[in-house]
Amino acid sequence: MNRFDCDYEAIKRIDPEVYDAIFGEFARENDKLLMIASENYASYAVMEAQGSVLTNKYAEGYPYKRYYGGCQYMDIVESLAIERAKELFGAEHVNVQAHSGSSANMGVFFTVLKPGDTILGMDLRHGGHLTHGASVSFSGMLYKTNFYGVDKETGYIDYEEVRRLAQECKPRMIVAGASAYSRIINFEEFSSIAKEVGAFLMADIAHIAGLIAAGVHPSPVKYADFVTTSTHKTLRGPRGGMVMCKGEYAKALDKIIFPGIQGGPLMHVIAAKAVAFKEALTAEFNDYQRNVVKNASRLASELMKRGYKIISDGTDTHLMLVDLRNKNITGALAEQVLDLAGITLNKNSIPYDDKPATVTSGIRLGTPAMTTRGLMDSDMEEVADIIDSTLKNHTDAGNMETQRRRVEVLCNKYPIYSTHVVKV
Ligand code: PLP
Repeated sequence: MNRFDCDYEAIKRIDPEVYDAIFGEFARENDKLLMIASENYASYAVMEAQGSVLTNKYAEGYPYKRYYGGCQYMDIVESLAIERAKELFGAEHVNVQAHSGSSANMGVFFTVLKPGDTILGMDLRHGGHLTHGASVSFSGMLYKTNFYGVDKETGYIDYEEVRRLAQECKPRMIVAGASAYSRIINFEEFSSIAKEVGAFLMADIAHIAGLIAAGVHPSPVKYADFVTTSTHKTLRGPRGGMVMCKGEYAKALDKIIFPGIQGGPLMHVIAAKAVAFKEALTAEFNDYQRNVVKNASRLASELMKRGYKIISDGTDTHLMLVDLRNKNITGALAEQVLDLAGITLNKNSIPYDDKPATVTSGIRLGTPAMTTRGLMDSDMEEVADIIDSTLKNHTDAGNMETQRRRVEVLCNKYPIYSTHVVKV
């Protein structure tokens, strides 16, 4: 047994280079504070399922309708994942085969859109995702794109502006959802706008799926034709995707996911999704999500006390976007120096940013991973102070060492995988 509490003897013997990289990563995840808003620590149970013999099996098709023999256990696993996801989100139909959040989105686009159709999504530079119409993504290559953003003054989505844009461009589909928006998304309002212009509504809840499952963010399931998500962010499952939809689209969607855009499902990942959904159905998971939001809210207010401008002046979710323009440091440099101090996060464009995406004027901070390791809202003052001290004195090597030690104290107090054994 090693620090990972798993038997990795085979990989150690056969491939020491990969073994070393895995344990290097284990140490990095343990010894630093991970504040990338889209990352988390999957449980042992999730990782065991993902590392199981299920990786050996072809299971093209869907439960009890396969194109391969020997799928009796695959049928059990996939049915469990589907039924648990339905229970968790109250969805009429679920497809758990999407390999990723991006594939889930592609699956929905291909189900209801033809190339050249018009879509309306959130601008990448205001917090949207690449697959919501960015020119470098299939979504921007195949469709006519239009974008809404956030209000320059408030940092909130302006729903009247979304309505105006929708009436102007008459999209066939509206995409609601974001990668860097810290406020509640009003899916009901998006649904009224979509209905008014005769558009499909797709809600992409990749970031907030865990919050929604726990009831700390309103659910779009009742309002949207399709709901897509990745399964590894706040939902804390394996790296993967999922699509939920109204029953009327079930057949068409399933046909697009397989055989339309994918081949054999990743059954080991689907088993891990089933495990993660079981964990997410517990009261403990709901408490965890409440703590994620509580930590984010406290961290935002501690940073604001220290003179940081948070876009929209706070957060309702697991993340926040910090505007660094009054701090005389770019997002890229902030990301670099904070990593030296032991805090890993990402530079992020802020709405109306005049710097390129490789530089940016902001950083995005999230609390899901550090909440999983056990940090509480009472620790957020210390985290905010370390961030502030690092950014203020980033050229001072002695100060950097002081901040790195403060991070080490927190990491030692909350080692990863010490408390995170989910009881079901
Ligand atoms: N949708 C949103 C809103 C996201 O934030 C992301 C990933 O960050 C995705 C989709 C894509 O997920 P994946 O990385 O699994 O393709």
